[in-house]
Amino acid sequence: MRMRWSTFGMLLLLALGCDPGAPAPSRAPPPAATPAEADPAALEARRVAIRDQVKALIGDLDKAGRYDCCVEAPCNLCAMRTGGCKCGEGLRNGEPVCEECAMMWRRGNGAEPGVDADSVRSFLEAEREMVAAARGAPAVAPAGEAPGCSCKEHVK
Ligand SMILES: [Zn+2]
Ligand SMILES: [Zn+2]
Repeated sequence: MRMRWSTFGMLLLLALGCDPGAPAPSRAPPPAATPAEADPAALEARRVAIRDQVKALIGDLDKAGRYDCCVEAPCNLCAMRTGGCKCGEGLRNGEPVCEECAMMWRRGNGAEPGVDADSVRSFLEAEREMVAAARGAPAVAPAGEAPGCSCKEHVK
């Protein structure tokens, strides 16, 4: 048994060993019908891998005291944008939060005690309100003045 194994091992080594004199064996797979960049399963696998990496990064940033988010499941946006989240601290000071956090508050997933969900603004909203105020126009058209809009606020 031992002999057979070592013989097998030798053959394996010889087979795998690099012989500069011999032409490289052509082991290239036949061209795939769908290139990897267009294969839905491959794209999904990449998305899941990146999502898991982002989640792991957020966990480590949190341990390092750099992730003070304000919603139930910490946002991904601040991790990708700045490698840290100050949405919670900002919100407690009455400041806007990132777009992802603002959306989660809108969906009822806010997690900062004593904060009224309707008062939470994203940086984008705050910026638009500032620009509108500078122009002397209302930031948001009053309800009823948005023909064609079927959202909850305008449909009543
Ligand atoms: Zn947040
Ligand atoms: Zn955020």
